[in-house]
Amino acid sequence: MVRKKILVTGGAGFVGSHLCERLLNEGNEVYCLDNFFTGQKENVVHLLENPFFELIRHDVTSPFFIETDEIYNLACPASPVHYQYNPIKTMKTSVMGAVNMLGLAKRVGAKILQASTSEVYGDPLVHPQKETYWGHVNPIGDRACYDEGKRSAETLFVNYHKQNNVNIKIIRIFNTYGPKMHPNDGRVVSNFIVQALQNHDITVYGKGNQTRSFQYVDDLVEGMIRLMNSRDGFTGPVNVGNPNEFTILELAQKVIELTGSKSKIIYKPLPSDDPMQRQPDISLAKKELDWSPKVQLEEGLIKTIDFFKKIV
Ligand code: NAD
Ligand code: UDP
Repeated sequence: MVRKKILVTGGAGFVGSHLCERLLNEGNEVYCLDNFFTGQKENVVHLLENPFFELIRHDVTSPFFIETDEIYNLACPASPVHYQYNPIKTMKTSVMGAVNMLGLAKRVGAKILQASTSEVYGDPLVHPQKETYWGHVNPIGDRACYDEGKRSAETLFVNYHKQNNVNIKIIRIFNTYGPKMHPNDGRVVSNFIVQALQNHDITVYGKGNQTRSFQYVDDLVEGMIRLMNSRDGFTGPVNVGNPNEFTILELAQKVIELTGSKSKIIYKPLPSDDPMQRQPDISLAKKELDWSPKVQLEEGLIKTIDFFKKIV
């Protein structure tokens, strides 16, 4: 068996830690790089005894060199609360991180996958969102450091491919949840579950009629690996998400029902530029990757609730 050497930036985060585990289980050698801003050692501590796993503390805004066959570039805070904490750093992470990792890929001839996002569509005027839609993003709003950072990263990826023939893959990830989200992550699924398990008020922002389409983390990891292994010449961008769309109020009610919580729903102001609707068109992922999500919301929420029961 050929053991591939794989670098995962942001590997100690929520998605990255699931990805590292899966790649190790498939017999690869995995280098997990992280600056531990939103990720934690706890997420990967159980992998440390595996001799084919290495944990590296490093910030992607500085160059990094390693011999590697593949790079999954995930380093970037993903929760609005955390990416807006230091917006300049967030943008540097996306842009300088992309330059540094693309430079590495070019130098060692590695294939490189960028974890992009449905946020490139902004507050979309087209519904559901197809990869051909250019988006509706406020370049000076509170979410711009993340949205425009990720859009710039896509531009860098495409141009390293065109100009330097770097083998790139771009995945546009829609809202993903599951075990190992940080309890203080600030994203909606973890917030609602933690609140419900503690019988605290459930904080719905706005009227709760905005929608999201929630994907379970195992489905995402499957999509990422399929994209990395997709045919030569297929670069994406490709949407990977679960098209089942729910309002935030429906999500709150579902979480209360599944936890048997006594929590009440309360309403808080809607953050600025919060997208009103979001649903992936996944026909490209079906065609090119033979991928579609397997875990529906209730099943995924039950697994996630079980995880949070152990830690809160
Ligand atoms: P996360 O915050 O749990 O993980 C991000 C990881 O990157 C953390 O471990 C963090 O410490 C690390 N990191 C941040 N800045 C860094 C830097 N400068 N150098 C090195 N490491 C750094 O978030 P996640 O949900 O696991 O998201 C992973 C990736 O997927 C992100 O790029 C995110 O934008 C993308 N994504 C996630 C979702 C989702 O719903 N989870 C949706 C769209 C896109
Ligand atoms: N949200 C909410 N209560 C919370 C956290 C989030 O109502 O405690 C809403 C938020 O305003 C947004 C949706 O849930 O409309 C998804 O938010 P999240 O931060 O998870 O992701 P994103 O907005 O980036 O999709």
